Amino acid sequence: MAIATINPATGQTIKTFDPLSDDEIDRRLERAASAFAAYRLTRFSQRAEWMDSAAGILDGERDDIARVMTTEMGKTIGAARAEVAKCATACRYYAQHAEEFLADEPADAAAVGATRAFARYQPLGPVLAVMPWNFPLWQAMRFAAPALMAGNVGVLKHASNVPQTALFMEDLFQRAGFPQGAFQTLLIGSDQVERVLRDRRIKAATLTGSTPAGRSVAKVGGDEIKKTVLELGGSDPYVVMPSADLARAVEVGVTARNQNNGQSCIAAKRFIVHDAVADAFERDFVARVSALHVGDPMDESTDIGPLATEQGRRDVAELVDEAVSNGARVLVGGRAPDRPGWFYEPTVISGVTPDMRMYHEEVFGPVAQLYRISGIDEAIDLANATDFGLGSNAWTDDPDEQERFVRDLEAGMVFVNGMTTSYPQLPFGGVKQSGYGRELSAHGIREFCNIKSVWVGDAKGGSSATRTHSE
Ligand code: NAP
Repeated sequence: MAIATINPATGQTIKTFDPLSDDEIDRRLERAASAFAAYRLTRFSQRAEWMDSAAGILDGERDDIARVMTTEMGKTIGAARAEVAKCATACRYYAQHAEEFLADEPADAAAVGATRAFARYQPLGPVLAVMPWNFPLWQAMRFAAPALMAGNVGVLKHASNVPQTALFMEDLFQRAGFPQGAFQTLLIGSDQVERVLRDRRIKAATLTGSTPAGRSVAKVGGDEIKKTVLELGGSDPYVVMPSADLARAVEVGVTARNQNNGQSCIAAKRFIVHDAVADAFERDFVARVSALHVGDPMDESTDIGPLATEQGRRDVAELVDEAVSNGARVLVGGRAPDRPGWFYEPTVISGVTPDMRMYHEEVFGPVAQLYRISGIDEAIDLANATDFGLGSNAWTDDPDEQERFVRDLEAGMVFVNGMTTSYPQLPFGGVKQSGYGRELSAHGIREFCNIKSVWVGDAKGGSSATRTHSE
């Protein structure tokens, strides 16, 4: 894939970039390694000052960077602004909490025969982040803010269609005051990732993206015995039970499926609705989806902009066409409008069965699948009948049902009476083929730390360490 800004609303190429040469990659990895040697010794208070300054820059330049994102990947301008604001919040959150999250964790010294025993969180070194285009600033920031606050240095390989957002990230941290080399963007293709991950100066990697990309990074990480975190695709269930507030479940469901032009890993993709409310849900849901305004993402009144790439639209259309040719029914949408750019009409489809690809695969575009069930066991079985396990949503007022969903949904996240969203305060990640490891919260900042056990005995020989069994 060429490294280029191509406006998905018009199909027009705005700017192209040459991928870095091997020599240039090498120079940058050397810079990362030498930056880490000094950066790891900086104080939390200093890092927090730089991170707060990055947040300030984001606030001050919110509209500019939002326009860059909308031009590069087509999200609506309002959503782009909100994304920038969320990044500033995450910077401040980790600036404020990193020291507390990574404080020494005392252990029972007497039980292990020490005078002092504790766990210390220490940075690993340069970490490679391979990131997707769909939330081009947020995905990279939710890696960068905790990684930098922990004392790691970051090397970003961003998706090839968002090079200007990628370069902004490096520039942002530079201007915020972080030392040279603390955060660098490598403009490289996916075929150069393996070479970087195998480099001895890179200590770990995180990838957010599709399951095939995650598998390939995990293979190399396994071969090199390097820690990896994977945030991959999803096909989140959205279960609606009879006691749900139906009006809210419909309204939130439309947003949960169509936000970011339908291109969110945690979008509600499969709507699993109880028979008792299914007719009403379908009627109101289809009406609301029909009313969504598709158009220029720079226009404030637009609800749905284009898909980010031509290939992405082709993939969505193929899945819909395959389902329809096997008997599924399109209730609204189901086609690309006749206009320039990579638009796809917001779509609702019913009658999807296990012999259709859409039943098993992620649809990365504004396509909602409607299923009907007659009870909670059937709802949970259907919700779990996928290889993915990222987010999940359940709507019910019944406390016993709420507890069943929390207990039995196979997902990294369950949101009851709300839509799956990421917050700095909550761990984010999946199970099954949606990946492993967690971002955000205290869990996220500890992923790229060496949890060092420290045992200190009495200098005068009073400890019992030598008398205990040692491994
Ligand atoms: P993608 O094609 O997998 O690309 C993601 C990143 O991986 C890009 O930087 C890409 O580089 C790189 N890449 C692709 N193939 C690779 C390989 N074989 N080896 C190494 N790197 C590789 O995914 P996408 O189309 O950008 O994003 C959509 C997917 O991301 C969806 O499945 C979505 O659900 C998932 N996603 C997951 C989360 C989460 O938190 N779980 C969040 C957002 C998105 P190039 O651009 O150069 O190809």
